[in-house]
Amino acid sequence: MHSSESGTYGAERPRVLIAEDDTITRLILKHWIQRWGYEVVVVDNGQDAWQILQQERPPEVVIIDWGMPGIDGIELCRRLRDKSRSYYHYILMVTGRTEELDVVHALESGADDCLGKPFAEPELRARLLVATRILALQNELIHAREELRAQAMRDGLTGLWNRTAFLDLCKHELDRAARTNGRTGLLMLDLDNFKLVNDTYGHLAGDLVLKEAARRLSQNVRSYDFVGRFGGEEFFVAFPGLDRDQLCQRAEAIRIAICSDPIPTPQGDVSITLSVGAAVAVPPQKSVSELLAIADVGLYKAKDSGRNCSVFCKKPQSEILNSNLPHRDLCVQCDAGSPSSCVISAPCTC
Ligand code: GH3
Ligand code: MG
Ligand code: MG
Ligand code: MG
Repeated sequence: MHSSESGTYGAERPRVLIAEDDTITRLILKHWIQRWGYEVVVVDNGQDAWQILQQERPPEVVIIDWGMPGIDGIELCRRLRDKSRSYYHYILMVTGRTEELDVVHALESGADDCLGKPFAEPELRARLLVATRILALQNELIHAREELRAQAMRDGLTGLWNRTAFLDLCKHELDRAARTNGRTGLLMLDLDNFKLVNDTYGHLAGDLVLKEAARRLSQNVRSYDFVGRFGGEEFFVAFPGLDRDQLCQRAEAIRIAICSDPIPTPQGDVSITLSVGAAVAVPPQKSVSELLAIADVGLYKAKDSGRNCSVFCKKPQSEILNSNLPHRDLCVQCDAGSPSSCVISAPCTC
């Protein structure tokens, strides 16, 4: 085929829906447009056109006649421009009504372009090329927008969810869990004495350590757990459906998986340790911030207990301080009544 005939400016050809009740015009449109290499779907009334346009991947270009039985071209334009539709169709109205006011009416109803009948082959082809070009541009814009959206949700260094995205996902998960009466586990992980890693090996090596720790962390969770970096050397994981005992096991398994082997960097192998705070949301508990606050107490206690360990915590600091209440919570190891938090990795002191 001659390059000007392919006529798509290098873009993928959009699919074309032809809705035309006049048999001759319909056949001509189909014949020419197929010959130019477009995939074509043909109907002879507005109702069938509307049905096809409800499908999952509808044709991107819609060539419609104005006067048709059932739903006419103008009504189809209006429906396709309904704000709730996520999909943008390029609409070319093909009509015998070529008065200035008619054209204005068609464009105002949502058509992108109008072509008067009878039309010549080169003009139709040129108009279709305009449609192809506009749709290609639109697809590029959509792609760029999606990329930006994805970037805005990710941490630049590690590729994990960033703080905002993580909190958002976590909120959705807690709402969902509340509806199904399910639990949600949360781990807050902080590399120990990380400032010393930077001071000893340099900031670039520190970055490599953070990246590798993030990779090991991601490799040791399920595909439907959420892993985020809150900035600095702090990571978070939300575990849909995990109860206390399962979460405690995960906490230790992850801590060991991240820390067991030194992380190689050009400045030398870096051994790290990690402190972990763990908490579980049980419906009707809790807001994300409450859950984070409880895990934060666990993390603080893990640091306070000498680092390199995990602490499961049941209550926020405010409740621990003011508590004259009997401790009805159970120790994660012996199931006896216990203080409000337990060091998972240390022998039980209950
Ligand atoms: P602790 O065990 O109490 O958590 O001690 P720490 O040294 O890990 O904690 P501290 O809050 O004193 O220091 C955190 C360090 O993390 C200091 C900061 O320079 C470093 N850091 C934060 N973000 C980055 C980063 O993106 N890259 C590198 N290389 N270092 C970072
Ligand atoms: Mg007609
Ligand atoms: Mg730290
Ligand atoms: Mg920290």
